[in-house]
Amino acid sequence: MVNKEESVALIRDLSNANGVSGFEDEVVRVATDYVQPYAQVTEDHMRNLRIDRHGNTQIKPQLQLDAHSDEVGYMIQAIKPNGTMRFVTVGGQAAVTLPAHKVRIRNNQGDYIPGIITSTPPHFMTAEERRTLPPVSALTIDVGATSADEVRDKFGIDIGAPAVPAVDFEYIAQSDVMMGKAFDNRIGTALLLQTIKELAEKELAVDVVGSLSSQEEVGERGAQVMVRKIKPDLAIVFEGAPADDTVMPDYMIQTGMHRGPMLRDFDTSIIASPRFQALALKTAKDNGIKVQRSVRTGGGNDGAVINLYAGAPTIVISVPVRFAHTAYCYVAYDDYAAAKKLAVALIEGLTPETIAAL
Ligand SMILES: [Zn+2]
Repeated sequence: MVNKEESVALIRDLSNANGVSGFEDEVVRVATDYVQPYAQVTEDHMRNLRIDRHGNTQIKPQLQLDAHSDEVGYMIQAIKPNGTMRFVTVGGQAAVTLPAHKVRIRNNQGDYIPGIITSTPPHFMTAEERRTLPPVSALTIDVGATSADEVRDKFGIDIGAPAVPAVDFEYIAQSDVMMGKAFDNRIGTALLLQTIKELAEKELAVDVVGSLSSQEEVGERGAQVMVRKIKPDLAIVFEGAPADDTVMPDYMIQTGMHRGPMLRDFDTSIIASPRFQALALKTAKDNGIKVQRSVRTGGGNDGAVINLYAGAPTIVISVPVRFAHTAYCYVAYDDYAAAKKLAVALIEGLTPETIAAL
């Protein structure tokens, strides 16, 4: 069993790790250090981490547990003569959320340099400019340099350098809520790692193989590689899903904070396997775990490629994340704990009969 202190510390370390798509190294390191005592861990050249639980038999049905390790962020596109840098967004983000935020840019030594996404001082804005939002192409990142040479020579930053929001994890005791960056999908990453820990050495009807997949935010690229290697018979995807309780009317809230894990029925990339979904919902009910369901007109996740390439029954268990794909996010600890309880109960409850009936 894992206690709350251990869970919060793991989530903190994963959230603080810098890991924009393609540069997941720090996340992979935190994950490896944590899970290595309970599993055999193999890293590939895309920074995908395969996690074979201790106690696997190689002859039972293969259950793939997936979480993506990357986060949305930025990449330097060009350096201007004045030392500010144009950038592109990596993963889906709205320009309105970007200006005047602090970021960390990885230089060619692998060190992270603080910078600011620029905004025009109000003193220099026309009345019209104060009312309009600049597109990403009009924004720059400034490290406090005054020439392109200074950026390259003193800071060691060149085009292609990745960047992430500069946000440090905080636990808010009053509400039992965690604040930090990248809870999409470091909360799913923590769920994957701790579920494997809780299941280590246990007698199960399945072999449990974790995939901490890279580059989800740019089109589920790591998962496309992992599913071909694992060839799962069934799969559970762990996600941090955008919470809707600050934006939707009451009757439409399907991913609210403190309302439990969300089991997504439908989004634009995957329809949850109805029989597996029903089994998960029954498990939640039998164990007194409050859950939510959602039907979305957008979104997508690694489950889509696992479902397509392996034809495996697949469901997605998500923890609600307020303000996903922005610098600052909230996750309620109780939602995380309930998601973990559900995942463990569901996997422990699998039998050859229930698997055959999927
Ligand atoms: Zn995402």
